[in-house]
Amino acid sequence: MTAPSARPAVVAPTVVALAALALAGPLAVTEAAVPTTTGASTGAGAGASTGATASRVVLRAPQEVAPRTRFAVRGTLRVGSGRRTVTVSERVDGRWRTRARARTTPRGTFRLRLRSGAAEAERELRLRARGGGRLLATSRFVVRVAVPKAATAVTTSWSAPGAALGIPLPVTGLVHAPDAAGRTAVLQAALPSGWFDLTSTVVAPDGSFALAAPTDWLASLSTRVLVPETATSAEGASTTTPYAVTPTWTPPGAAGDWTELGPDLPLRHDPCRVVDYRTNLDGAPSGAAEAVAEAVRQVALATGLRFRHLGPTAALFDGRGPHAAYPSDATLVVGFGTAAQTHAPFGGAGRTIGWGGASDSRRARSAALGDVWRIVEGGAVLRADHPWQPAELLEALTHEIGHAVGLGHASGAEQLMFPVSDGANVVWGAGDLAGLRTAGLQAGCLTAPRRSRADDRPRGVVALP
Ligand SMILES: [Zn+2]
Repeated sequence: MTAPSARPAVVAPTVVALAALALAGPLAVTEAAVPTTTGASTGAGAGASTGATASRVVLRAPQEVAPRTRFAVRGTLRVGSGRRTVTVSERVDGRWRTRARARTTPRGTFRLRLRSGAAEAERELRLRARGGGRLLATSRFVVRVAVPKAATAVTTSWSAPGAALGIPLPVTGLVHAPDAAGRTAVLQAALPSGWFDLTSTVVAPDGSFALAAPTDWLASLSTRVLVPETATSAEGASTTTPYAVTPTWTPPGAAGDWTELGPDLPLRHDPCRVVDYRTNLDGAPSGAAEAVAEAVRQVALATGLRFRHLGPTAALFDGRGPHAAYPSDATLVVGFGTAAQTHAPFGGAGRTIGWGGASDSRRARSAALGDVWRIVEGGAVLRADHPWQPAELLEALTHEIGHAVGLGHASGAEQLMFPVSDGANVVWGAGDLAGLRTAGLQAGCLTAPRRSRADDRPRGVVALP
């Protein structure tokens, strides 16, 4: 961020310095030849299987059955034509004991009936097909014998479909199951990456529960309450309910007014992990610690990112990286420095008062955004020798941490991500919020990249004033 000026602000070009690191070669994987005397099982319900990838038998068996019942093992043999013999055996004390035998139809289909037995057990079974004195196919599978679990029904009641930021939003409900008391009720959000636990509570003796939907960030989520299974009851879930948290101010400007910091792919923290950060307040103005905490809170309320302050560090986000001095337990460092301490353009008559971005990242995958860079070193550094006023300090910190979570510059002066400070703007605009929404929990968790790639190597610095 640059200080206001009568002249047009000079915005330093984005620095993209690729780290020249040698890459370890990909691990070679050699597949051993698989004997073709065995077939493979496929199909719903078939458990562990053995054999070649060429499917010689399509097998369908239940994964779980109740005690004292009968169950069917069905399938189709895919070796030639004519009637063959299929046998199902069970492994007991290291030996295979025949449990059922049948002839296939001329087209190769078969169906065998087995007894589940009285005891709960994991039954290890094997199907073998023979014809013309030869073993044609074999497939192993497991059938679990277990007493069926009781159903768990969950109902919820929301006090309102949403709330303003910071206003409590109670969710109550009932669990209908024989063992409801003491079970856990989990409020979950449907993120692009799957269900995500927001908060949880213990179910009361009468089956009721009370939760509070998070309203400390600008969420807009579809939710459900999940009660996980127990030894005797199946898991249960409520129907889904949407809720939204709205800002307490009217965000100015256009929702489209935001950009990515990453020049090729979005730069992101994993919103499903706590973002641990450290601060370097050597040479900082008075009130800096409180201002950093408030700026972090502003980024959190717009993103849903959860931040945790781990304490001080001697390191600075210095406009270069990756570097050995960066704390290994944090992915964000916020500090104050001079031109002599950083590579940010803080020298001479320059008007740059802050610098923020990422100095190291790894390839990752976002269900909502596709390929991204996951930030492993990010930060914000503010000019230590600037005559800071409280509002300007908060504005600059919020702006630079906005860069450190992946946002570039906006074009409208009403946005906090506008590159020139007005010394007073400390609320997010509509464009800021739209961008930060994609930088946070709303976009879902990051996962490993789809495959190992030559460009998985660490990235260099991507930072802006
Ligand atoms: Zn900036």
